[in-house]
Amino acid sequence: MVENGAFHKFSYGLFVLTAKDQNNHNGCIVNTAIQITDNPKCITIAVNKQNYTCGMILNSGKFNVSILSEKTPFSIFQRFGFASGRDTDKFVGFDIINESQNGLYYLTEYANAYLSCEVIYSRDCGSHALFVCSVSEAKVLSDEKSMTYAYYFENVKPKPQPKTSSGKVWVCLVCGYTYDEQKEGVAFENLPNDWACAWCKHPKSDFNEQK
Ligand code: FE
Repeated sequence: MVENGAFHKFSYGLFVLTAKDQNNHNGCIVNTAIQITDNPKCITIAVNKQNYTCGMILNSGKFNVSILSEKTPFSIFQRFGFASGRDTDKFVGFDIINESQNGLYYLTEYANAYLSCEVIYSRDCGSHALFVCSVSEAKVLSDEKSMTYAYYFENVKPKPQPKTSSGKVWVCLVCGYTYDEQKEGVAFENLPNDWACAWCKHPKSDFNEQK
């Protein structure tokens, strides 16, 4: 038996991952950056293949990771996590960025450090691409504590609102997006298995019915 809740016991950090193609910069939220070796400094990162940023990294071979601190407001998760860079420029009206030596953006506020990375190799892991990377630049930006996934759930993500629909409503445990069966006209159980949260792209298994 594989119990889904066991995976929620993992401790993760939260990061803004930034990359670019010829014309555009883009960024997304990930919780999948980890250091694997110290000498040389190497990290891995896994990125959902549906994310625009993933294709940019596959093509360019480089990205930045801004490590988010506990001061990061929900608006940063909305900006980078709940919209696609294919439809919107996530950096419009956003001035807390700077360019690192590799020409990519990093966050100058809410991040306590950033790393500039170069892909050594990548692997297709189904829903995600896994990148093993070297680090070309790394800089500390503040002494604020790094935000963990648990901290985000307890202190940053808005608390669920009382149910107002008379039909069944399903809530994404990751971002709080709600799927209202009455409004959508399709029962949640009947959605295809590859259906994903409209905001954070997490799968059906990360939804619970709102009571
Ligand atoms: Fe979600």
